[in-house]
Amino acid sequence: MKKNRDNLLDVAYFSMEVAIESDMATYSGGLGVLAGDTLKTFADFGYTALGITLLHEHGYVEQEFDSEGSQIYFPETWGKENYLSKLSFTIKIPFKDRFVVCAVWQYEITGQFGDKVLVYFLDSNVPQNNKYDRILTSYLYGGDAQYRICQEQILGSGGLILLEKLKYNSEKVRVYHLNEGHASFVGLSLYQQLRNCFNTQEKVLEYINSKLAFTTHTPIPAGHDRFMMTDVKKALPKDLLKLIPKETLKGGKLCMTRLSLYFSGAVNGVALTHEKVTEKMFPEYDVIPVTNGAYHLEWTHPEFKKLYDKYIPEWRQDPSFLRRVLDIPGNKIWKTHMKSKKKLIKYVNTISSNKFSEDVFTLGYARRFTSYKRPTLILDNLEKLEKMIFSVGRLQIIFTGKSHPRDKQGADLIKEVFQKIQKHKRKISIVFLEDYNMKMAIKLVGGVDAWLNTPLQKHEASGTSGMKAAFNAIPHLSVLDGWWPEGWVEGVTGWSIGTNLNKAKLDDKATWNSEVTDLYNKLSKVILPLYYQDRTSYIRVMKNAIALNGSYFNTYRMMNEYVSKVYFPLGKRFVGNNIQNEYSKNSNEK
Ligand SMILES: *Cc1c(COP(=O)(O)O)cnc(C)c1O
Repeated sequence: MKKNRDNLLDVAYFSMEVAIESDMATYSGGLGVLAGDTLKTFADFGYTALGITLLHEHGYVEQEFDSEGSQIYFPETWGKENYLSKLSFTIKIPFKDRFVVCAVWQYEITGQFGDKVLVYFLDSNVPQNNKYDRILTSYLYGGDAQYRICQEQILGSGGLILLEKLKYNSEKVRVYHLNEGHASFVGLSLYQQLRNCFNTQEKVLEYINSKLAFTTHTPIPAGHDRFMMTDVKKALPKDLLKLIPKETLKGGKLCMTRLSLYFSGAVNGVALTHEKVTEKMFPEYDVIPVTNGAYHLEWTHPEFKKLYDKYIPEWRQDPSFLRRVLDIPGNKIWKTHMKSKKKLIKYVNTISSNKFSEDVFTLGYARRFTSYKRPTLILDNLEKLEKMIFSVGRLQIIFTGKSHPRDKQGADLIKEVFQKIQKHKRKISIVFLEDYNMKMAIKLVGGVDAWLNTPLQKHEASGTSGMKAAFNAIPHLSVLDGWWPEGWVEGVTGWSIGTNLNKAKLDDKATWNSEVTDLYNKLSKVILPLYYQDRTSYIRVMKNAIALNGSYFNTYRMMNEYVSKVYFPLGKRFVGNNIQNEYSKNSNEK
């Protein structure tokens, strides 16, 4: 890709959520963080790119707890005017029996070399709309199926209309990148626009295929949006509805993932394990693996930024230089770690009534609370764990995370953590921090001693928080799932829980028990002894986490892979002439 060509757009990036700043509540978790990190990387690379998303004026959910640990949710208010500027025009998006008008808000990302990437937020809260339509862009992942279909129509069809308004028609856009199936209507709307521009339907599809890249993010079948056609019919305009390909329908439902697959010339999974799972789910498609990364300038703690600036100044322009961390004296790494750890412990003790100590080995666990992520695995038998670590040293665990308001099991898991916290206050101290967000994430991934992840194997697409930890010398202790099989060298970059299997593990008691046993053994026999009795060796693992994983699991490496494995081959797919020639040939013949 070339730098800064005014009239061409390298990438139009569509995502239902985008995490740009912590207090802009336009994200719920990993998908949004990846989108934000990607857009910031476009800006650093000087690519002509832009992002399209919805405003989410009331965010995802703000989380508080009652005395029993039940979540109470509030709509967030984040003050869009403080972050965004409103454009002078509106766009009109066709629906079944009406148009929905959207205002457009803009955020300017400036890359580290001064290049800009704009992110557009569509906002249906305008007086021209009826009451229902006015709140369509208010709640991220809110409402029922009908509400979600409407949101996806705004993102997909609305996003395309916005691009046209910005003078980027399909000839000017090299790649439409759909971050997850929420943006699938981009393909359908593009098809509607272009289907008469070519001689044959195959050519239309071939042309659209040469422009669309699709990233899928979930290895769980239930994680893919499927809408009842009866609901879809209530939302979409008739002329769009009739173009839905039959390959994307099954049992009266429209599969948004299949819709994106149908129109995209390239589809990628977000880790090697995830690519394999996705190919099994959709065997007709070749899935490209592009393992996620985290943006190093966002996710390196200020204390570590100072250290790297001093010893390896090249790391900012090129995070692969983090491998040179092996040259930094171990005591400097430790001192830096203790500075960020002290800040974290102070923060924990301030916002909770705990007396956490900076001298105690501290584990961090932060993510969405939902069944397959098994947040309570480590809490299975705390009496036993206390006995096992009794002679070695103490343990502190910091939990945080929200569950989706409709995920009852997720909320119950949070309650369970709360109940265990009440009971256990001896060798093991546990705290649950309220309202996880990006600000809290950087404190945690910069300040704990190891980062914990215990999903059921084959259920985690990638995960990125463990990558963030690696920038900050924090080893990963995790089930071998998502990105971890690629970053894991036992005892060198961190530790596994359980074994590396090709088959999906069963969600049964035996699997649970064996992984609890393995986790407890690792903690009591390997990790805590290393930490308390052989600090030099522990620091070596910390260094390796940066050198081997921080240098690799970053968005710069990821972006280079998107360009070479997804965007570039995509551009070469369309074997016909450009659309203009096709179009004029078409009209000449008539
Ligand atoms: C990084 C991040 C996530 C994603 O973490 P995973 O490891 O992918 O679960 C979620 N929420 C916030 C606030 C984050 O910063």
